[in-house]
Amino acid sequence: MSATDQQHIDFDNTQVAFAYRSNTELKKAYYMFKMLGYPSLVNLGKKVLIPAIEWGLPLQGLVKVTVFQQFCGGETVEESNDVIDRIKGYGVKAILDYSVEGNENEEEFEKATTKLLKTVRMAETQLAIPFAVFKVTALCRHELLEKKSKNVSLSYEEEQEWTRVKQRVMRICEAGAKNEFPVMIDAEESWIQGGIDELCEEMMARFNKEKPLIYNTVQMYRHDRLDYLKSLYERAKKEKYFLGIKVVRGAYMEKERERAEEMGYPSPIQLDKAASDRDYDKAIEFIIDHINDISLVAGTHNEASSKHLVDLMEAKELLPNDERIYFSQLYGMSDNLSFNLAHAGYNVVKYLPFGPVKEVLPYLIRRAEENTSVKGQTGRELALIQAELKRRKKEKPLMKEMP
Ligand SMILES: Cc1cc2nc3c(=O)[nH]c(=O)nc-3n(C[C@H](O)[C@H](O)[C@H](O)COP(=O)(O)OP(=O)(O)OC[C@H]3O[C@@H](n4cnc5c(N)ncnc54)[C@H](O)[C@@H]3O)c2cc1C
Repeated sequence: MSATDQQHIDFDNTQVAFAYRSNTELKKAYYMFKMLGYPSLVNLGKKVLIPAIEWGLPLQGLVKVTVFQQFCGGETVEESNDVIDRIKGYGVKAILDYSVEGNENEEEFEKATTKLLKTVRMAETQLAIPFAVFKVTALCRHELLEKKSKNVSLSYEEEQEWTRVKQRVMRICEAGAKNEFPVMIDAEESWIQGGIDELCEEMMARFNKEKPLIYNTVQMYRHDRLDYLKSLYERAKKEKYFLGIKVVRGAYMEKERERAEEMGYPSPIQLDKAASDRDYDKAIEFIIDHINDISLVAGTHNEASSKHLVDLMEAKELLPNDERIYFSQLYGMSDNLSFNLAHAGYNVVKYLPFGPVKEVLPYLIRRAEENTSVKGQTGRELALIQAELKRRKKEKPLMKEMP
């Protein structure tokens, strides 16, 4: 397909969106999203699940066949291969996301580094996995990142600790970069993001000389991030390296606002959703205007934002499969965007979390909360699944269910 000959994308096409799911899976997803529509149920789950599993109550099996199956690839890299193969058949790629959170000591940080190196090495060998990703908090204490972000001077021991963090980040980035395999770094809370940005920028300056191999993430729910993106571009130009940028709205809004209020500083979050949407669009426009220097991963479930990026690409006559531009959604969410975009020839990659059930629970709870709190998201998922089940019933009422 040429750049001027792009297809109309119908995000309501449920046949394309759910072709990879059987009837049974769709029905299960339907009941699960229905459950997530009850905030009190999600709240209860949040309060009792983690302690119950810690007390040894046998609830892991239940979690595994419900929310875990909807949002995760498996407990291990190997277990996740099934999903990777399945979505690959529909042109959608995967990013293995080791979703274990809350590491607190050196032993856990080293374990996470080894695990992440394994995902980088495994991913390099598979065309269906175009990126690796990690969170710096899997490798470093929150308090240390906070000190770095505040520019507080570190003690001798802390300096040593920071050197070890840098070495871990470096090992992962280097493992990807030496085989030209891109590595993305997630954005986290604003009070630790300064330290994360510092690490990212150092890695980009080091490994992005020829092409963008290390990606930082900008959260457009922060009112200062458009300026950050522009100043980062100026620095990269001056120091002669490429930028890789994942653009998202941001996942920690409530926490950010609560902390700012509690501690009495101005909230870093935009005044309203419209301001986040506006800056999201502006960030995408800025990157597309500088696409020769900046590669983009658009991490969003927002249809208007995805459509806006398609329009910008068309206006610039960029091919849908331009390797510098990826659309990205989380596994288990917004399949109508991912699979319809891939069907129309765009590059699409799903974040595919994996890890032991008990350890990915905080991630799952965040997904559950997001689906309860993001206005309309659960309703949208439910309506799409319902439409597809209805369509299938009408199409083949007498046929046995799809495998
Ligand atoms: C592939 C992928 C990777 C991601 N990586 C990261 C990451 O590294 N770091 C991270 O923090 N998040 C990350 N996220 C999550 C992301 O930041 C959003 O929380 C989530 O995608 C919802 O935003 P949206 O653009 O999809 O949808 P929308 O429903 O359009 O937007 C919801 C988002 O808008 C913002 N918002 C809502 N209400 C308001 C308000 N009143 N005022 C201001 N802003 C508001 C919030 O950010 C909220 O999450 C990622 C998401 C995806 C899909």
